[in-house]
Amino acid sequence: MSRIIAAAAIRGAHKIIDRAENKLNEVIEGYGKDHAVAFPNTGYFLPVIYGMTGMKVENVADMEKVMVKCKELLPPLVKEKNWFPFLGWTLDAGMATLFAEEIIEAIKYIETPDLYVTGPEPVNGNIWLGAANDIILRERGIEFVDGTAPGFAAIVGAAPTNEWAVRIARELQEKNLYVFMSADNDGVSMAEQLHEEGVQLGWPTRLVSFGKDISATVFAAGFATRAALSFGGIEPGDYSRILMYNRARVFAFVLPLMEVDDEKYANAAGAINWGFPVIAHTDIPEILPTGVCMYEHVVSNIPLEDIVAKAVEVRGLKVQVSEVDVPVAFGPAFEGEAVRREDMYVEFNSVRTPYPSFEYTRSAELDQIEDGKIEVIGPGIDDVEVGAQMPLAIMVEVAGRQMQPDFEPILERMIHTYINEASGIWHMGQRNLNWIRINKEAQGKGFKLRHLGTIIHARYHEDYGAILDKVQVTIYTEEEKVKELLKEAQQTYRERDERLSGLVDEGVEEYYSCTLCQSFAPNHVCIITPERSGLCGGYTWLDGKANYQIVPTGPNQPVRKGSTLNAVMGEWDGVNEFLKVASRGNLQKFKAYSMMQDPMTSCGCFECISVILPLTNGIMIVDRDCSDMTPCGMKFSTLAGMVGGGRQTPGFIGHSKLYIGSKKFITGDGGFKRITWMPKALKDQIGESLNERAREEGIENFLDMIADETTAKTEDEVMEYAMKVGHPALEMEPMM
Ligand code: SF4
Ligand code: ZN
Repeated sequence: MSRIIAAAAIRGAHKIIDRAENKLNEVIEGYGKDHAVAFPNTGYFLPVIYGMTGMKVENVADMEKVMVKCKELLPPLVKEKNWFPFLGWTLDAGMATLFAEEIIEAIKYIETPDLYVTGPEPVNGNIWLGAANDIILRERGIEFVDGTAPGFAAIVGAAPTNEWAVRIARELQEKNLYVFMSADNDGVSMAEQLHEEGVQLGWPTRLVSFGKDISATVFAAGFATRAALSFGGIEPGDYSRILMYNRARVFAFVLPLMEVDDEKYANAAGAINWGFPVIAHTDIPEILPTGVCMYEHVVSNIPLEDIVAKAVEVRGLKVQVSEVDVPVAFGPAFEGEAVRREDMYVEFNSVRTPYPSFEYTRSAELDQIEDGKIEVIGPGIDDVEVGAQMPLAIMVEVAGRQMQPDFEPILERMIHTYINEASGIWHMGQRNLNWIRINKEAQGKGFKLRHLGTIIHARYHEDYGAILDKVQVTIYTEEEKVKELLKEAQQTYRERDERLSGLVDEGVEEYYSCTLCQSFAPNHVCIITPERSGLCGGYTWLDGKANYQIVPTGPNQPVRKGSTLNAVMGEWDGVNEFLKVASRGNLQKFKAYSMMQDPMTSCGCFECISVILPLTNGIMIVDRDCSDMTPCGMKFSTLAGMVGGGRQTPGFIGHSKLYIGSKKFITGDGGFKRITWMPKALKDQIGESLNERAREEGIENFLDMIADETTAKTEDEVMEYAMKVGHPALEMEPMM
């Protein structure tokens, strides 16, 4: 343990705590002790404080209590010559620093509410994102769960030059890591350097510009803490489990760039508590193994060009980088990059351009196709002018002994993800509603249409090598030919839809489990049936089936139904048996079609939450995009905290959007007719399928009977609305 680091970190902690105390006194004076305090749209209060102590900071007076805690934790300044450096004190100083920084940041939200943007990306030139709301946490958290993002680098300060900033950011992105940026050196921050160079900042590109102040570093610790609380199902205040969870599952580290001052040492000491090591290019003292981090704690003097590789090694991270031979950067971190109209070189879309565009994956016989053959038939992008629009058909043929026609739509849907992974290429939608843009930079670097084929070929082999032996891609850009091929594709699209809608729970012997989220929520199991997709919306029964064939020991396992215990509630003895084992004894029973009795657990990735509204004898559904207060008296974020973490919570379930229109939607509790409230935007999205469901049961315009925020904000108002429209729930048996 280095005495210099201990002394500097403790000095830094004193400075930051003094600063927090002064700010707090100002706020008490200016706003009073009752003034509300919150980070926006979160159920986790000030998350580091909440996670570590269980204290819910809701007003200024609560912050005063935290100040007392800070001072208890804060060791005295190091003065005596023979002071013995002790890691414990340094860690406590770091923890106290983070509590104080949360206070400082919370006060910013009171005094300068516009300092940070509210969404995931910079707006109108404001690049500072501040605390992530719970929507961002869940969306990004799932990437930590499924491994598309193994962790994050917390960059404190600025790079020596803009070029270094871009180079380090790109290198981290290519390793699939999030980049959390805070603090400055001589008035410059890394985020500003990237912004100046035209790099797209924000959660979608994983380049997260938290804030310019050193205190914004706490948002990284807050994110890590919330991951443990929400996905790990750890109780607030159980600090040792939160820290251990992060050490084991979140691959994060701190990169202090340029000069490391006392405050930065204090933050580094804070991070070590979470098991996040510090890797510096400057000549600072090292702290080699003593047990809090996996390997070394502080490693210094690493040349900038090696710093990312070294950090990955010290944190014990195994990074998989796909080998895709294209002239642009490639990896999941580039998925969220947009291509704006003014940056676009060429685009393809059936609606927004006069030309048809579609993508289609079909199976072929092994001897019909040649693996790796990529052909472009018609003009390429270099044959058109900047800003052009073109027709496009991406025809992918796959062959393999394990390939089944059922897997075609699954493979086809992945084209979206794969193409987006190329920096400068943007993809949206699927089938003949796909929309692709290639930007000028990518074209300038030599990106050609055939590279779309290169990407699909490489990524299919990487992800689906177990079922595929050959992948051949043909790209057409002649309008007549594209139109002709589209006819064939559309016929297949229709057949697939029919086949899918014919799949019912009664028609299969096996369901599929998904335990992907157990890497974050250890007790959670999704049971996926043909009529109930995984709660994240990402996995259908067919996906489960395909994934099982691809990775027989993976997270999707067949679940034999066995004998039916209760057909209405959806209970089978085989499923119960499976669940006992898969949840490690935490769950005994499960009823697929009920939210009231033994409902499915939730990890935290649910698209929607259904909640009982007892007054209306029905339920409300709220989705992740709705951050307003709901009639049950809780916002989505608060509900998510209750429902997530692998617990069964009768009266509440997390589910996908698709499930709402399913014939098996809570049929054990009375079915869709229980729905009395939904946000308007959700009604717009799924209304069609719900109305159709209702029509089958002889109810016309059911959607209009469901209240939304424009007609009812409280449970009483939902009740009034239901009476006014004669909602069927009022006539049904009591729900409880
Ligand atoms: Fe997680 Fe369930 Fe989605 Fe699997 S299906 S990824 S377990 S939420
Ligand atoms: Zn999940």
